[in-house]
Amino acid sequence: MELSPAARLRRFLVPFLGLDERRCALCRAPFVPSVSAAGMTDAREEEPGAAELLLCSACRSRLPRRRAGFCPHCGEPAALDDAPLTPCASCLQSLPPWENFLFHGIYEGDLRESLLRGKFGGSLPALDMLGRLLAEVCAEHYAFAPKPQFIVPVPLHASRLRERGFNQSLELARVVGRTLDLPVRHDLLIRVRPSVPQASLSREQRKKLVQPFAAGEGLHGRRVLLVDDVCTTGATLSCAARCLLEAGVVQVDAAAVARTSLHSAHGVGAPRRE
Ligand SMILES: [Zn+2]
Ligand SMILES: [Zn+2]
Repeated sequence: MELSPAARLRRFLVPFLGLDERRCALCRAPFVPSVSAAGMTDAREEEPGAAELLLCSACRSRLPRRRAGFCPHCGEPAALDDAPLTPCASCLQSLPPWENFLFHGIYEGDLRESLLRGKFGGSLPALDMLGRLLAEVCAEHYAFAPKPQFIVPVPLHASRLRERGFNQSLELARVVGRTLDLPVRHDLLIRVRPSVPQASLSREQRKKLVQPFAAGEGLHGRRVLLVDDVCTTGATLSCAARCLLEAGVVQVDAAAVARTSLHSAHGVGAPRRE
């Protein structure tokens, strides 16, 4: 195969940059991170993104970050992926309990496959890769915003945890915590009831339902980042955020790897297990 001059230069520079050929976290094919990803850029350019160091370019394009075409408050995707950030109908009526909503991409295609592999297939490499994608989004956000003091994963009920053996949100939160250098506190929020009210209820109706979560001590006056794997209706994250706010937290931000879309085949109508 004929290499482009840029690719030849990269190959040549690899040993001097201390880079080795890596394996792509998704397809396992060997690849060389691009020179810009390795920090061979001037200071005006952006920091290397996690995706550039983890994934080959083909897989990177299959796990796209959603940068436009969603509601800035809850992530609800618009029909067009390049539409400007516009509040959705639900947020115009009543804002979610969190301050900022951070997510990587739409729950479809390879992102959905990877999440399912992590959650139901128990693939820790998949969760690690997804955690890094989310960590990149969070790092970018907190470069310009006050950092939270704790990262709190959305908890599973004890019965579900026994069944699965791990909490996927905790695994994701750990990666985010390592990247942001923040403590992950899975003791600060527990799930006391197994299920959370879902899609058919409005945001107002959900506010009145029995809280499935309970908060721990020491949250007063703190800022917290809540981490979940997928945000479907926002019901789970809303309950969790409200529980933390009632315990005295001053600001909750919510982060999820993926957001479901009404406009994709795996949207809100699709069944989802916690
Ligand atoms: Zn790949
Ligand atoms: Zn919204």
